[in-house]
Formats: sequence, C-alpha cells, structure tokens
Amino acid sequence: MLQVTINGQSREFPDGYSILQALHRIGIDIPAACFDERLEPFGGCRLCLVAVQGMARPVTACNTPIADGMSIETHAPEIEQERRTLLRLLAQNMPRHSVPAKEFYGCLREYGLESAMHGPAGAVDDSHPYIRVDMSQCIACFRCVRICADVQGQFTWQVWNRGDKTEIRPDSGTTFLESSCVSCGACAHTCPTGALVDKSILTHGIPQKWTKTTCPYCGVGCEMNVGTRDGRIVQIVPVMDAPVNKGHLCVKGRYAYDYVHAEDRATEPMIRTSTGWKVVSWKEAIAATAHGFTQALREYGPGAVGVLGSARATNEENYLAQKLARVVLGTNNVDSCARVCHAPSAAALKMVLGTGAATNSFDDIEQARTILVCGSNTTENHPIVGARIRQHVLRGANLIVIDPRQIELAEIATIHLPVRPGTNIPLFNAMANVIVEERLYDQDFIRARVAGWEDYRRFIQEWTPESVASICGVEADLIRRAARFYATAKPAMSVHGLGITEHSQGTLSVVSLINLALLTGNIGKPGAGVNPLRGQNNVQGAAHMGCEPNHLTGFVPIDAGRELVQTVWQAPVPKYKGLDLMQMMEAAEKGSFEALWVIGYDILLTNPQADRTLEAMRSMKFVVVQDMFMNETAREAHVFLPACSSMEKDGTFMNGERRVQRIRRAMPPIGNSKSDWEIICAVAKAMGHGRHFEFESAEQIWEEIRKVWKVGAGITYARLDHAGIQWPCPTEEHPGTRILHEGAFQTGARAALQRVEHVPSKEMTTDEFPLLLTTGRSLFQFNAGTMTLRTPNVVFQPTDYLDISPDDAGRLGIVGGEMVTLRSRHGAIRITVRLSPAVRPGEAFTTFTMPDVYTNRLTGPEVDEITHTPEYKVTAVRIEKE
Ligand code: SF4
Repeated sequence: MLQVTINGQSREFPDGYSILQALHRIGIDIPAACFDERLEPFGGCRLCLVAVQGMARPVTACNTPIADGMSIETHAPEIEQERRTLLRLLAQNMPRHSVPAKEFYGCLREYGLESAMHGPAGAVDDSHPYIRVDMSQCIACFRCVRICADVQGQFTWQVWNRGDKTEIRPDSGTTFLESSCVSCGACAHTCPTGALVDKSILTHGIPQKWTKTTCPYCGVGCEMNVGTRDGRIVQIVPVMDAPVNKGHLCVKGRYAYDYVHAEDRATEPMIRTSTGWKVVSWKEAIAATAHGFTQALREYGPGAVGVLGSARATNEENYLAQKLARVVLGTNNVDSCARVCHAPSAAALKMVLGTGAATNSFDDIEQARTILVCGSNTTENHPIVGARIRQHVLRGANLIVIDPRQIELAEIATIHLPVRPGTNIPLFNAMANVIVEERLYDQDFIRARVAGWEDYRRFIQEWTPESVASICGVEADLIRRAARFYATAKPAMSVHGLGITEHSQGTLSVVSLINLALLTGNIGKPGAGVNPLRGQNNVQGAAHMGCEPNHLTGFVPIDAGRELVQTVWQAPVPKYKGLDLMQMMEAAEKGSFEALWVIGYDILLTNPQADRTLEAMRSMKFVVVQDMFMNETAREAHVFLPACSSMEKDGTFMNGERRVQRIRRAMPPIGNSKSDWEIICAVAKAMGHGRHFEFESAEQIWEEIRKVWKVGAGITYARLDHAGIQWPCPTEEHPGTRILHEGAFQTGARAALQRVEHVPSKEMTTDEFPLLLTTGRSLFQFNAGTMTLRTPNVVFQPTDYLDISPDDAGRLGIVGGEMVTLRSRHGAIRITVRLSPAVRPGEAFTTFTMPDVYTNRLTGPEVDEITHTPEYKVTAVRIEKE
C-alpha cells in the first residue's frame, strides 16, 4: 500500500491508482470534464488540476499516478482560481442552457459561473429517435468520440477541423440518423453537457428512483439501472461495474423499453367466447384455466397436455412451470424456446464434455489470442459481446469468422470463411484434418485428457480441405490458414450462434466444433473453450430450470434426478417420456395432443411452417396464453392471462455464461397484470395442488430451487445482491466457476473425439428454387418483434427485408425497395427486397420479426435429428416479381 497525504490527511491506497481515482475512493470530488472511468485518462480539459508538493506546476489528477509519500492539495486558492478561469473559457461559447443531470452545468453552478454561458444557440439535430444533438453545447472534451471508438468500436463521432474551429460531427457529415451510429447511447451517457442527451429525460423529466436489474433482451445479460419517474421508465443506463457489460449497453437494452408502457399492453384476463374476447376477473380466468386442464386430463390423459415455459420469464417462473407440468398435470410434456435455438449446443456439450453449457466466460474474450466466431452475427445479436470482440481484435487479436454473409465482424477478421449454409460439418472436419495432418494438435492434452484419438485420426484423414472446398464454397487455402491460426495462436476461443445449431445436423455440428477444441487443447483454460451465445435473456435458465421433457432442474436426466426432486416436492415425477415442442405440434396435428399452456412465447410467428403450426393450434381443444401482448399465438387461445414485464417483478435470469443475476421490480405491475409465478401458483391451487405451490415471493421459490439443484445450491439472493454468480457454485462459500473442465470433465478424466459424418440437408436448391434463404435476428428488432416493434426502434428497421446480392437482383431485374413474392416448397410471403453486398449470389437473408410478413410460412419441416431443433438456416426459395 502507498502512503499519500491528501489535504493534510494521511491515507493508504493500493499501487496503480491515479490521483483522481484515489480522490474518488475517499469521496473527494473535483471537476473533471473529460474524464470517464471507462476510458483511458486524457488530461485534456485540465479541470482536475491538483497541487502536488515538490512539483513546480499543478498536475492533472486523472492521468497522474499516486506515489508513496505524495502530498496533494485539491482545493488550494490558486488551483480553484485556475479552475474557474478554465470553466469560464469552456462555458463562454455555450448558449444559456441547463440540462438536468448533466455534470458540467452542476460544475458551473458550484463555481457561480452560470452567467458565463453567453454563446449563441445552435442548430439542433433532432433526427435520431433517442438522442438529441446540440453541438452549440459542446465543450470539446472528446468523450463522445473516445467512447464511440474505444468502447463500442464504431468511430461514428469524428473531430472535424482544429483549434477554435474544432467541431464534433457524425461520420455522415449530415444528420446523426444518417450516420453509422448503432445507437448504443454511450455518447449521450458520457457527454457532460447538453450536446448529446437522451430525449426521454427532456420529454419526461429525470428519474426520481433508480433500480438495478438485468436486461430483458439477449442472453449476454447486461446489468442496467432503470430510472423511473411517476411509475414510468424514463431512462436506462448501464451498471458501471457490471461483470458482463462493464458500463455499456446496446440499443435494445438502453432504449427499447417503450413496450412496457405500450398502449396495446394486454393487462386484463380474458376468455374467448363465440362473439370474441371477454374481459373477466382473475378469479374467472384462473377457474377457466383450471377447468380446461382438468377436463383435458380427464378426457385425454396427461400425455395430451403440455406447458411451454419462457425465455422471457425468470428462473423461478420456469421452475414453477415445469413443476406444474409434472406435479399438477402429471406430464413431462414441457419445453421452452431453447428447442428452436441452442438445444443442440446443450445436447452436444453435455454429450461430449458432460455439462450442457458454455465452457468459459465473456471475460475470456480479452484473454484469447484467437477468436473463432461461427454462425453468429455477434455485433447485431449479442452487441456487447460483439463490441468486446471488436475491441480485442482492434488491439491485435486474431479473428476467424465462419459465416455465409460478410457480417460486420468479417470486415475486421483475419480470415473470413464464407461457408455455404448447411456445410459446417465438412468445414470443421477439414480444419481438424489440417490440424492432425500438419501435427498442430496438442499432444500433451490429447495424451492426458482425450479419448478416441487413434480412431479419430484415421477417420479425419479423408477430410482434406481440397475435398470439401466445393461443398462448403470456401477455398482450401483459407480453411488451412484458419486451422493453423486456431491451433497455434493459442489460447483460441470459439463462440457460436444459431448458424451452427439450426440445421438438420445441428447437434453434430457443435460436436465437430468441440472436436477442434479437444484436438488443440483449447478447453479448460482461460481464453479458450466452446461457447454458445444464447439468444434470449433467460433461454439458458428456462431449459436449465427443467422446462425440458427429458431433464429436471439442473439439466439432470429425469431418472438421475427423480429421487431428489420427489423428496423435495413430496410428489411423484411422471415416468413416461415427455414430448418436446415439435412433437407436441405433430401430436396436435394428428389429434393426440389437446391442451397447451404457452407462457411468454409467440410460437405461431416463430415456429417453422407457420401454417402447420396454426392448424395444430386450432386442432387443440384448449389453449392458454400468458403474455404481455395479444400476440399471434394468443389470438388462437381460449384463455388469455396478462403477465407483467421483467421491469415489474423480482427474480433471477441466467445468462449465456452460466451467470445467475437478479432482476428487480422497478415499477408496479401495469393494469391488472401479474408475475408469471403468481399466475402459475394460482392455477396450481385451483387444481388442488396448493400445498406444492405455497410461495409468496420469488426468493422463496429460489430457496426450493437450491434444494433440487445441487450445482447451484450456493447461490443465494443475498449473495446476488452485489453481482451475479456463475454455476457450478455448490456451497455458499464457493465463489462460482468462470471456466469449466479445468482439471477433468463431468464425464471423467477424458472426453472422446467423435467421428462426425456430413449428411447434406434435404433443402437443396433446384432450378425451381434456386436461392438458399437463411433467417436470423438483427440489431434493432428482436425475435418475434413483440417488444421492439413497440419502440422507436422501428425507425431503424420498420419491416423485415429480403437481403439479396446486387448480382442476383440485377439478374432478376429487381431493384432495392421492390415488393416481391418469396416462395419456398412450404409456402409464400410478400416481402421488400434490400440489396446487400454482404450476401453472396445464390443466397438470401431475412428476419422473422413482422406478423404482416410472416417469414416462417416459408421454413420447412426438417429438424435436427437429435434435438428436433428446426432447420431455420436452410430454405430453398425463389423470388417472383409482382
Ligand atoms: Fe441487452 Fe443483450 Fe444488448 Fe446487453 S447486449 S444490452 S443483454 S440486448
């Protein structure tokens, strides 16, 4: 520790602090207009000047390190005088404005210098839906420019001209909306003046209360502070010391919250009658739900009823959803949307390594020398992870991108392998071939921790890059180079998305990716591992809590977990095999599945073959939908139960790196809506199972989860108060686990290499259907669009677009903006064409957000052979001019 005297008082600080950090630590505030803890100190504004004994001139506190024996004076009269002069100079060109909550105006007030602002008012750029730009209030601290470059990696804000003429403008040179901005909002958050400001606080006022919670969108799990005023969300800012997002958020987390207050929020329970929906009391809705399921059970038995948990609901709520299915309905027919995304990742990781979850953490990104991004448009779909990868690559790490499209990360990649959709296995096998043939494998690791080496070595011989190049559409030389980087520039970490899993061989694709990690020893180490990027906020938790037909809480196979769970529940766990979502729909079509409870999940818009899903829904005798909105699925229901948003309740989410984090109620439930767990308990009680559902808070449910989930037993609400914890965490003394498989695998000392053969997709292109369509998400719209379509994000993406290459457009005589019919073997939709150089000729891409486009009318019946995850990523289509 270093001994430092500050304003006459002796203090101790650890080595490595700057003077400003030391002052902050002991609660001394001095002006520092260009300082932001997320950025390298800059010393540009010079307001943080302090006097240091023995130094001829005052020094800037932000970039001067403390030293042992240093004596610092922070508010000496000559220092204060200099600050006042500097503040006056900065303020003199500003118009007489004051934007609440912006620190620079507070400074001027403190120094009695508000009258120093006498510059002319400037032009306001109001083009952006979330941020107002008024550069007449700019003091050229460059925080916006630096945070855009150094945290987001976007370089949208740029410095134009020099000296007195210095101006900060967006890279468009025109309006902010027309710039390259990705609307992460970091610039408005850091700007100390009214130059860049969140419009929401200008419209609704500054927050009266802040609540720390977790983002309701993607599986990255960013922590945020939600600011409310008069029961309404008026601003969201990142938690500065959050382990995942470290003071940053993306456009969805920071700004896309208006769905909470949307006018069409469904906040009353309803029952469908012959004349339409009728608003009823909660008592009637619960009674109707209990009656519908009781009748279905009596007439058709437990094999004909099921429950779908929700990636939008908490761990506690998903736990209760599967408990209700098993205890009250007596069925294992329970599933969640993990079925349609990363079920193959969980299955493959569990099968080969023994634990069905990401092996490493997001903090490993900065430790990796090479990052392999496969089938993931990370900067759009997991933006904070994307920004961290981007920053790391800009600082010198190697990046290999495997993706059919020239996605944003491909632009900065060391190597981009533009793989043909559906050919990941031959590509991974060819990389393995190079690693084996060129002896780039990790001999020590294989000797100690890998089984099946000789057999695999023989198997992989024939998978040369040359033999797969034409199948994958990737040059053999590129495959060789990628394999060499991955195997030699270690540690190498892979992150993968649905471009790997949503295929007819999704699980085996992940297995062949795990083979690469085993061969090269890139597992059980910092900066390495195999890491699925989970799509929705709590999709990892939904399946992990037991919304899974074959697994109980903790992803424990039913037979292995039965005894413990039955002891805790004091109720039997059904014996027969349950149906997953796809099997439930098939059974409904065949007339052997009759009642379904869908919680927070628009299956009609997101399941493949939407027309068949609709038929299946309509053939059921009883459907209950529990949601915030009357979505497409809800329109087909018999009972609608209004659920509140995550901003209105307590509980926990589990992010994609196994981290359990708190969500907290920032405002009371809107209208008559209730938490999902309260609704589930009410129905269980109405069906005579009250004693198994005696819960009065989310924490009480969590306490029961700890009893059945040994691996998470050490996680308590008290421990989660400060920050999330990554499981395994078996005891309250355990710190949580950042990296899995460090010494051994869950399956034993060794994990086995697997022979993976390639079976081509049945969705082949033909003369009749010559284009291969893949579907996915985008930065501004999220999944079914239920939430983001009710926010100003529609300004950025108002509809689903069909992205095709300019070459194909030219050949077909189509121009950007043209409406076309897109037809597959399974259906047709109308959609607007957008020309995209990121898409290769012969391929196409679209999102599945809009009910009035209904992309999933096109997708087909093929599913992953192991998990039944649909093959969303390969659909042969043709474009018809209208
Ligand atoms: Fe939310 Fe994901 Fe964006 Fe983070 S990256 S703010 S979790 S949507």
